[in-house]
Amino acid sequence: MGVFNTGQFPMKYIYGPLHSRRLGSSLGINLTPFKTCSFDCVYCQLGRTTVKTIERKEYVNTVEILEELKLWLQNNSQDAKSVEYVTLSGAGEPTLNINAGSLIAQIKKITAIPVAVITNSGSLSDPVLRREILSADVIVSTLNTADQAVFEALNRPCEGIKIENVIQGLADLRKEYKGRILLEVMIVKDINDSLEGIRKLSEAVEMINPNAVHLNSPVRVPDDSRVQSADEKRLKKIQNILGDRCEIV
Ligand code: SF4
Repeated sequence: MGVFNTGQFPMKYIYGPLHSRRLGSSLGINLTPFKTCSFDCVYCQLGRTTVKTIERKEYVNTVEILEELKLWLQNNSQDAKSVEYVTLSGAGEPTLNINAGSLIAQIKKITAIPVAVITNSGSLSDPVLRREILSADVIVSTLNTADQAVFEALNRPCEGIKIENVIQGLADLRKEYKGRILLEVMIVKDINDSLEGIRKLSEAVEMINPNAVHLNSPVRVPDDSRVQSADEKRLKKIQNILGDRCEIV
């Protein structure tokens, strides 16, 4: 578990506020030990996944998280006014924490700041998990491809995770969830940027019907020479295929 610097005093679980184009000012909460994730994406800015797992359990103590959040809100009342989201995210996949859902409910008892969940979508085929995150105000979920071989090359998921189930999970979430779903698509040159593959992805996006699609390409490339950004022209073409709700962020 990393110790995040909030500017005034060190905290174990809370970090930021950070600014992102997708969520604005966001106060992050880390729900897993460092790099505990069901994926090992080639573009991950945190490096290789050290604990690759699909198992959901209480990786970190949610009572401690809430205590930290209360303390942060008390000590940063001015900064808190400009925070747009409390975001379940961090240095791994937050939905692996089995208490993610109850944490959202508890956060809502102590602050009116909306809650966002950032997920790699790998466990969304699980109806229990989907039900747990329904009280979030926005769900930011990743989908980079509709093709299993490309999924495995790019996201290196835990064995057994099938992209068709991920897509179906996202489509089911859309039917069950009334809030905003922002779908993030990360494009890596020569891995998932073929226009044929993007057309297939576009069909999946139509089925999922997210509120917006955020198209991105890695800027800070990790220590892996295969990971290269797509150029702007290619991103524009991809944006056109993915339709009006797609923006390059
Ligand atoms: S899902 Fe996120 S945390 Fe996990 S390996 Fe991919 S980019 Fe990194």
